[in-house]
Amino acid sequence: MTKTNHGGNNNFREGLTGAKISRFLLLPFQPKYLKAYLAVKRFEDISIDHLLKDGVEGVLLDADGTLGPHHTRHYPESVVAHVRQMADKGLKVAIYTNSSNKLFHQFAGIEIVREAYPKPDPRGFDTAMKDHLQLDDPSKVCMVGDNFVTDGGAISAGMRFIYVQPVKGNENIGHSFTRYLGTLCARLYYGDLFKNQRDAGPSTDNR
Ligand SMILES: [Mg+2]
Repeated sequence: MTKTNHGGNNNFREGLTGAKISRFLLLPFQPKYLKAYLAVKRFEDISIDHLLKDGVEGVLLDADGTLGPHHTRHYPESVVAHVRQMADKGLKVAIYTNSSNKLFHQFAGIEIVREAYPKPDPRGFDTAMKDHLQLDDPSKVCMVGDNFVTDGGAISAGMRFIYVQPVKGNENIGHSFTRYLGTLCARLYYGDLFKNQRDAGPSTDNR
């Protein structure tokens, strides 16, 4: 694909885009776009075997708040090992972040989505899936992230969404507040999913 940085500079990617604003405003009224496939406490709690059993072929991973704290320069070894295990077990894996943090040297061999519209723009998920996972069926792709407003846009793109409880960090108050409201909406509609947040295995019942 062309090397255009879709969606503008990094500050823009992390700030309020039109896609973020419209998704945020519509979320309370469109519960189907809040229906996660699974909710877990930590990224490492995601059972790779269950993903494979459920027909998942590729995963897109958010970075900030999901794999580590906001703008971290170093990810926990347990997280790096789990990402590597996903790839070793046959899943196609790519990191898809809106962050300006470009230090992913710990994830050698893992695709990094750098040239796509920022989440939750559906065009960004499509590019990430096709160009970085080499897949063309969104129902076989899982987005893993801590934010129903941005990462949860994967649901509108036809993908499954795994919600990870945010890793504490120093993100700005606007970011944490919109993320909190997005999760609150999801909890109101699908509270049972969060009761099982510590369970390791996803179930097709949650789709
Ligand atoms: Mg995040």
